[in-house]
Amino acid sequence: MARAKARAVRRTSRRAPRYIYAFGAGRKDGRADMKALLGGKGANLAEMARLGLPVPPGFTISTEVCTHYYAHRRSYPPALRAQVKAALRWLEKAIGRRFGDTTDPLLVSVRSGARASMPGMMDTILNLGLNDQTVAGLIRQSGNARFAYDSYRRFVSMYGDVVLGLKPETRDEEDPFEVALQEKKRQRGVTLDTELDADALGELVDEFKALIKMRKGVDFPEDPEEQLWGAVGAVFGSWMNPRAITYRKLNRIPDGWGTAVNVQSMVFGNMGTDSGTGVAFTRDPATGANVFYGEFLMNAQGEDVVAGIRTPLPIADLERENPKAFAELCKVRRILERHYREVMDIEFTIQERTLYMLQCRVGKRTAFAAIKVAVDMVKERLISTDEALRRIEPEQLSQLLRPVFNTAEKERAVKERRLLARGLNAGPGAATGRIVFNAEDAVDWATRGEPVVLVRIETSPEDIGGMHAAEGILTARGGMTSHAALVARQMGKVCVAGCEPLQIDYRAREMRVAGRSEVLREGDWLSLDGSSGEIFLGEIHTTPSEVVRVLVDESLAPKQAPIYQLYAQLMQWADKRRRLRVRANADQPDQCTNALAFGAEGVGLCRTEHMFFGEGKIEPMREVILAETTEERRAALAKLLPLQRADFEGIFRVMGGRPVTIRTLDPPLHEFLPHDEAGQREIAQSLGISPERVRARVGALHELNPMLGFRGCRLGIIHPEITEMQVRAIFEAAAAVRKDGIAVEPEIMIPLVGHVKELTLQAEVVRRVAAAVMQERGVRFRYLIGTMIEIPRGALTADEIASVAEFFSFGTNDLTQTTLGVSRDDAGRFLVPYVTDFEIYPRDPFESIDRAGVGQLMRIACERGRKTNPKVKLGICGEHGGDPASVGFCHELGLDYVSCSPFRVPIARLAAARAALGA
Ligand code: ADP
Ligand code: MG
Ligand code: MG
Repeated sequence: MARAKARAVRRTSRRAPRYIYAFGAGRKDGRADMKALLGGKGANLAEMARLGLPVPPGFTISTEVCTHYYAHRRSYPPALRAQVKAALRWLEKAIGRRFGDTTDPLLVSVRSGARASMPGMMDTILNLGLNDQTVAGLIRQSGNARFAYDSYRRFVSMYGDVVLGLKPETRDEEDPFEVALQEKKRQRGVTLDTELDADALGELVDEFKALIKMRKGVDFPEDPEEQLWGAVGAVFGSWMNPRAITYRKLNRIPDGWGTAVNVQSMVFGNMGTDSGTGVAFTRDPATGANVFYGEFLMNAQGEDVVAGIRTPLPIADLERENPKAFAELCKVRRILERHYREVMDIEFTIQERTLYMLQCRVGKRTAFAAIKVAVDMVKERLISTDEALRRIEPEQLSQLLRPVFNTAEKERAVKERRLLARGLNAGPGAATGRIVFNAEDAVDWATRGEPVVLVRIETSPEDIGGMHAAEGILTARGGMTSHAALVARQMGKVCVAGCEPLQIDYRAREMRVAGRSEVLREGDWLSLDGSSGEIFLGEIHTTPSEVVRVLVDESLAPKQAPIYQLYAQLMQWADKRRRLRVRANADQPDQCTNALAFGAEGVGLCRTEHMFFGEGKIEPMREVILAETTEERRAALAKLLPLQRADFEGIFRVMGGRPVTIRTLDPPLHEFLPHDEAGQREIAQSLGISPERVRARVGALHELNPMLGFRGCRLGIIHPEITEMQVRAIFEAAAAVRKDGIAVEPEIMIPLVGHVKELTLQAEVVRRVAAAVMQERGVRFRYLIGTMIEIPRGALTADEIASVAEFFSFGTNDLTQTTLGVSRDDAGRFLVPYVTDFEIYPRDPFESIDRAGVGQLMRIACERGRKTNPKVKLGICGEHGGDPASVGFCHELGLDYVSCSPFRVPIARLAAARAALGA
């Protein structure tokens, strides 16, 4: 027995787990669907190699090593070293060069690659393996000293930054390597990096090393092995750097996923004018148009294109520059789109006219592009309609509904010569805000409630937080695939990139525009049109989107609205798929009109108290509250009756027979009275009573805990005449509409029920009034009586309640408050850190249903409710009804409908379809 155990232990320890997966040169260890293990980059490199595309060979160290690294105080699994060594030997054989060889060295890149793409988040090192000896070998091998020293200086600066941590230390400081490079160019009287010769570049290598020694107190490691392990450690280490953590927070990527490391043999775009590097999208990521879209730079390496060092050329120009590589690239574009059936984002390098593929991934795109591509690909028969639905995140629709600049105001701005310049239209939409010049300020100002436009020469991953806080992002350098453009598209931010006329001075916190006299300072107003790339001085007001103009304002014909057409197509597919019905929360006839325009199938929540704030209604409402006797109260209620009736009639007419759920009075009464003396005096005067009486009543209504106080059905039980008036108004309106031949089916909803008796008492009032009105008016109409399930006792006793209720509507705002014991109005101070720092809840429970707690109560209520009343209609009317994840949960529970604000109805329709597809 003991021996068998020992043998088993020995066997497992002998057979160490596999940590390394090779790609290229005949090896196909990985696949695209192995992203969890290999990271996105590694998995797709393997997939491209499988497809026979020209991928420089290399190997991926799996994400399991990262997990191990953090689980074991930043150390590697013991078997890793030997496996890396073996992989390196294989790579040397495949390439025919040896790592560290002084005559013909193998150079590699060390690249991070997480499971979910984190553009620019993690650090990559190129040309690793160079030192003062191997650089001589590289010169011999290439016959090109300039190229060799260019590679070397790049390596030293990348290594110095990423591994040895030589970075700017304050927000105004520039990158120290960049400063030395600029200084060298100044000394030599040149403007471009490419104009520096081998000598100058060689000097830079020494200067960079000296800089590292001086600022970091360490020698640059000359031993390639040491370089390799340093780089691998830095990649794993970068998983926990602040900007990567911020990015994961913003994108809800779990910390536990870890990154992989890719070690790949180098190819060189910096070998001269017949070499180069570029990035491309197989379609336009801003508009979705089916055109090859990208940028390249000749005689350049790595990030040069995206870092905005020189302004890159559009991909179409590559045909002229290098027809062979261009033709090859077009072929790759086709192969990748057919294979992945997706828009792909690719990185390539041309080394002496030969094309190499270095990366591909599914391309990030704007909401506009996402929808256009999905609809187009259905037409091209690349994907099914279901797949199209799976690909559109419901939230993306909100970008389509977002306002754009008011045309007249924009024209006026142009006339007033406020059009400052034009850049690239990198992130569509309209943004107005005040200028800030760095990310930290953007966050500070935004926290103070100031809308800001973040203006940078170029952005880098450190700026993520600021970009998130800003209304819009403006950069002077960089193309459509620059960091700013990429991140803005993903965040759905307005962005104008590569606006070259801008002259930005970070230290002075000001900028000028070439050819103009004004100086723009921090705090000045600026407006960006991310759809046209224009930037304007001052504020410009916005106007509704195309979809809203077609559907709501009816000021635009569908034929003239291409974006609307895409929206309509997608919605049609969604409606065919979804099982959940979608209603809107609407309190007034005009809101109902909007809701219908967005496709609502009914009203899920009409809050009657919102009506009381309308013109001429608040005074009688106050009379009701101030009444001292039931007679007085009835008299005041009689004044409200016709006003409410008119509102309901309007709603019923607009909704034309669709279900309308009307909630009886819910909020505590003191909400209708002013709390300040002046306001109270005014009321007293207008009602002809003494100010003391008003003050006394306000005092009497005061509650320590209004959320749990005299509100909801409690009001109607203590003062049944209030419920009586409200349902009379509803039924009289129904009768009037019915008489005009319009179908109507009101659903009377009693709020805050925790005990069946509460509902029974209110239902008696409702039925009595309904019968009376039918008799008086001589018409019959159908109606339902139901309740909100919004306190735990209601959910737990749903079987009893369902014996009276014909429907339940989950009021998840209050249900969340009462289940969690958290008052939403007081939660600000702890709930944000609860979610972002402590990860107690995965998301704000007031935004997205807390499934484990609130969700469980909902499940119980559904099950128990259906047990006594299998026909009980189930819906949700809390704000969660417009949250895609919560809609998914409602689908799972088998609710009949969700209800949300009119503008979120399209989002809920799509979310419901995706839930039905299991997306
Ligand atoms: P990121 O994840 O930030 O995109 P990458 O690992 O893709 O970083 O690398 C940064 C740049 O270096 C990219 O432009 C990439 O194409 C280039 N690069 C990476 N590895 C190699 C290589 N082996 N040969 C040539 N260029 C490379
Ligand atoms: Mg990359
Ligand atoms: Mg409520």
